[in-house]
Amino acid sequence: MPELRTVATHCPYCALQCGTRLTRERRGVSVRPTDFPVNQGGLCQKGWTAPALLDVDDRLRHPLVRRDGTLTPVDWDTALDTVARGVDRIRAEHGADAVGVFGGGGLTNEKAYLLGKFARLALGTSQIDYNGRFCMSSAAAAGTAAFGVDRGLPFPVTDLGGADAVLLAGANPAETMPPLMQHLSQAQLVVIDPRCSATAERAALHLQPAPGTDLALALGLLHVAVVDGWADMDYVRSRTTGFDAAWQRATAWWPERVERVTGVPVTAQRQTVRMLAEAGSAYVLTGRGVEQHSKGVDTVSGFINLALALGLPGREGRGYGCLTGQGNGQGGREHGQKADQLPGYRMITDPAAREHVAQVWGVSPETLPGPGRSAYELLDALGTDNGPRALLVFGSNPVVSAPNTDHVVRRLSALDLLVVADFVPSETTQLADVVLPVTQWAEEEGTMTNLEGRVLRRRRLQVPPGHARSDLEVLHGLAVRLGEPGHRYPTSPREVFEELRRASAGGKADYSGITYERLDAGEALHWPCPDPEHPGTPRLFLDGFAHPDGLARFAPVEHRDAAETPQEAFPLTATTGRVLAQYQSGAQTRRVAELNEAAPAGFVEIHPDTADRAGLADGALARVSSPRGTAVVRVRLVPTMRTDTVFLPFHFPGEARANLLTNDVLDPRSRMPEFKVSAVRIEPAGEA
Ligand code: SF4
Repeated sequence: MPELRTVATHCPYCALQCGTRLTRERRGVSVRPTDFPVNQGGLCQKGWTAPALLDVDDRLRHPLVRRDGTLTPVDWDTALDTVARGVDRIRAEHGADAVGVFGGGGLTNEKAYLLGKFARLALGTSQIDYNGRFCMSSAAAAGTAAFGVDRGLPFPVTDLGGADAVLLAGANPAETMPPLMQHLSQAQLVVIDPRCSATAERAALHLQPAPGTDLALALGLLHVAVVDGWADMDYVRSRTTGFDAAWQRATAWWPERVERVTGVPVTAQRQTVRMLAEAGSAYVLTGRGVEQHSKGVDTVSGFINLALALGLPGREGRGYGCLTGQGNGQGGREHGQKADQLPGYRMITDPAAREHVAQVWGVSPETLPGPGRSAYELLDALGTDNGPRALLVFGSNPVVSAPNTDHVVRRLSALDLLVVADFVPSETTQLADVVLPVTQWAEEEGTMTNLEGRVLRRRRLQVPPGHARSDLEVLHGLAVRLGEPGHRYPTSPREVFEELRRASAGGKADYSGITYERLDAGEALHWPCPDPEHPGTPRLFLDGFAHPDGLARFAPVEHRDAAETPQEAFPLTATTGRVLAQYQSGAQTRRVAELNEAAPAGFVEIHPDTADRAGLADGALARVSSPRGTAVVRVRLVPTMRTDTVFLPFHFPGEARANLLTNDVLDPRSRMPEFKVSAVRIEPAGEA
C-alpha cells in the first residue's frame, strides 16, 4: 500500500477519538483537528503532539530475542519460530491453559477480534483477558445489569451540549479529554472527586468525599431525591423495576449520616439533587474515580439508581453514561478479548453464542474453551503451579499499569516465556524473552469504536519503519507455525472486519451493517447496526431498555468500607489518577518531548498541613509507603487536598510508580482492582 500525502484519521490516544487530518510535510508529519463532532476543531496537548510518536528515537524496528540475558535483534522467522517452539513445548508439558494472552484497550477492533480468535483456536487457551479490565469493567457490569447492555455513552457526545446540569462522578475530563469540555460549557457542573481536579475547579459545586465513600454518597443522593420529592415516580413506575429494594437500602442514608461518612455537607447533597432535578436537561456521568474500587460495580449502580430515580436514562436530552478511558476501550471489550466473552458482546458460557461464533470460525462449539481468569488474576497466577507458564502481551504495559506492580513483576519474571508485541520499548518489554515490533496508528488501517459506540476508521499515512509488522501479520505468522490453516487469520484489516461483522451479527454489539465503504463515505454509525441499510443507533433505550421486558433495573446496593482503611502504620489514604500531558502507563507519551517537558516525573499532592506534620516541604523527595511497597516522588503542596488524602498520578516508571502502592483486592463481579484507595504513610526520602 503506497504512502499518502494526507489522511483523515483519529488521535491515537483516548476514547474521545478526536478527528484529525495528518499531512506529510517536508519536515515531518503535521496534524490538524477536524470538525469531527466530538472535538469540533479542538485537540488536547496529546493530540497536537501525536505525530512525534511516529518518530521516536527508540522505536522498535526489529524483532528481539533474549540471548545470554540481552535482547538481540533477529529476523522475523527466528522470532516467530522461537515463540511457536516455546508455546508448543509449554502446551505439551502443561496443557493449553499454560499459555496466556494479555490484550489492550488501544488495539483496533480488528486486532482485538483476531487476538481473541487466535487465543481460543490457535492456542486453545481460556486464559485471555486485557487491560480494559482495569479501566471500564465496573461500569460495564453495572450498565449491563441496569440497562441490559453497556455502551459508554448511550447517546452522542454532542447531546451534552444541550445539558443544563451534569453530575460528573469520579471523572476529570478537563485533563483526560479536554475537548469534551466544550460540550459541557453551558451546563452547571457538579463534580464528585476527593481531589480538586481541573474539572472540579470549573464546577458550580464540588463534592469532596473521602476516597472509598462514593457509594455512601450515591445512596444519600438517592435518599434526598426521594425524601425531598425530586424523584420522578411516574418514570420509576413505567420504565424501571426494583425500586423498592434499592430504596430500602437508601432509607438509612439520611444526609447527616452521609456527611459523617463522606465529609460532604448536607447542603451540598441537597443542592446537587435539586440542580439535577430542576434542570430541563440533565446527565449523570461516571469515570474511573468511582469505578476503580473493590465495590466499583455497586458504586456505579448507586449512581445509576440516582439517575433512574430522577428519570434520566433512555430519554432525549437526559441520561446516564460512563466516560470510557482508552482509545478503543469500548470496541476492545466487544470482540472477544475478555476472559468471559465472545465477539458481539456474547457470554462465552451461552450455548447459542458459542454455536454462532464457532460456526463463523468453522469449528465445532466444543472446541471453544470456557471462561478464563480476569486480568489481574491472570497476572497473579503466572508461573504458579496451576497458572500460565507463557504470556503473550499485545499493546499493554502491566509493569506500570497493574496494581501491586512489584508483585506483578515477580510473577512476570517467573514465566518460562514472556512475549511482548508493542511499537515502543516499555517497562514490560524489558522483562520479555521475545519482543515483536508492531505498527502504530498512522501506519495501519482499521477501525476503533469511541466512547459513544461510534465506529471510526483509522487510516494509514505511512509505512512502518524498519521491520515493524502489523499485529494481524504477527498473529497469522504465529498461528500458521502452531499448525492452524493460514486462511483463518487474515492479515488484511478489511477482511478481518468482514468476519467480525458476521461474528457480531445478532449480538448485543451488532456491527453486521457497518462496512468500510459506509464509514469511508462519512456515515456516522453507532452500534447496534444490524444490516447495511440500518442507520445505526446513536441513542439507545429511547423505546425501552435492552432487558426482555424493556425495563431498567434498580440495584439494591449497600455501602461498605474500602478493603483497606487508614491504620496506625499507614494513617493516610492514597488515591491515583491521570494528568493532562501523559496517557496510561506513559510508554508512548513519555517519549514525546513536549509532553515530557510538561509532565516529566511522578509526584505526590498533599495538603500543606499534612506535609508539615510529616516534615515535608514543597519539592522535597518523599517516600510514600503502603503495605505493598514504596514509591519515591517529589512533594507538591496543594491546599485544596483533603488533609487525610494524598494523590499520585500513575503514568511514571521506576520508583515513581503509583501502582507500587495500590491494592490488588478485586471487585467480586467486575474483577476490578482497588486502584483508588490504599492506606499509606509519607515521610522524607532524604536526597542522595
Ligand atoms: Fe486525543 Fe483524547 Fe486529547 Fe482528543 S482528548 S486529542 S482523543 S488524547
